[in-house]
Amino acid sequence: MTPTTTQTGLVGFTCEVTNQAVSFHECLACAQKGAPDCPMVPAAIHVATKSIRDPRYAQKLAEQAGAEIGFSVTELLSCARQLRLKQENPYYEKPSSLYRMNRGTGYHSLLSEYPEGIREETLSWRCKFQGRSILLVGTPDLIELTPNGWLITDYKVTGHAPGGRKIMLCGKCEGETYTGENGLTCQDCGSIFRSKSELTRVYRPPQPRSSHVMQVNLYALLIEKNADELAGKLNAAKPGQFAGAQVVYFTDKAPVRCAAKLQREATMAFLKSVLAALISSDLPPVIGEVDELWRCDYCPVRSLCEEMHGGPVGKAAIKC
Ligand code: SF4
Ligand code: SF4
Repeated sequence: MTPTTTQTGLVGFTCEVTNQAVSFHECLACAQKGAPDCPMVPAAIHVATKSIRDPRYAQKLAEQAGAEIGFSVTELLSCARQLRLKQENPYYEKPSSLYRMNRGTGYHSLLSEYPEGIREETLSWRCKFQGRSILLVGTPDLIELTPNGWLITDYKVTGHAPGGRKIMLCGKCEGETYTGENGLTCQDCGSIFRSKSELTRVYRPPQPRSSHVMQVNLYALLIEKNADELAGKLNAAKPGQFAGAQVVYFTDKAPVRCAAKLQREATMAFLKSVLAALISSDLPPVIGEVDELWRCDYCPVRSLCEEMHGGPVGKAAIKC
């Protein structure tokens, strides 16, 4: 399919076999004819096509609310440059990429049948930033009211959950250690260790991934801004605090439950920096944080990004 000049966003699939652009319709027709060497089946192509989210979802909600620009929590957590490139250009994804994203949808909807708390409630917050009127929207999987305040739970269906591990803590201040230039070093007090007797070995339970921690923190902000309405839905008094947040990873074997720390100040700082990048007239920069470079490996607009950047991005840029 040849996109018209006005088409932007996801306009078709990249074929799993030929790596060529195909329209959604051509891909489904090919799968229905047996698609030699292709792992996709017609039903999976059909589901992938139906699951494509409206790229203007948050923007439409913003316009309905009288705001200028809208962003979802998912958009705030993605690469700002990728979001802009996807909004302004036509692009293609492999059907298997959509399969990966949608695989958990079925279990998510089963989990949402749990009758307690507030499930999958879309929350919004209209705010002013750099003179622009912005609507933020997000949909936490589960919000519960406990005697200690709001408890946020987010579900992730995944093949790879975080694992627990044994770590060495500083024997003086119990700070975490890292291997520095002079050997094992405490990240808090700076002590350098020569002997194991100066360290305490402890088991650290599984920790949620950093982007998932930020996700529940952004939900906490939305809950704070909608607390009266949420408490009203539960016929309860508005709590003045949060009991906490957790991310539950559903693997093939068993759930892995990870507590996530709520940090309002850090979340506001993150929000301001992301919004500044997203509303700037300049194209946001390429990802520079080492922990985030993996995103480029799955980015559907990578070749365009590299072309505009004038060189490789992601892990390839580090190797140069
Ligand atoms: S069904 Fe498979 S081989 Fe056929 S166009 Fe789609 S991705 Fe390519
Ligand atoms: S290739 Fe990497 S830096 Fe470039 S848009 Fe994609 S995710 Fe962002």
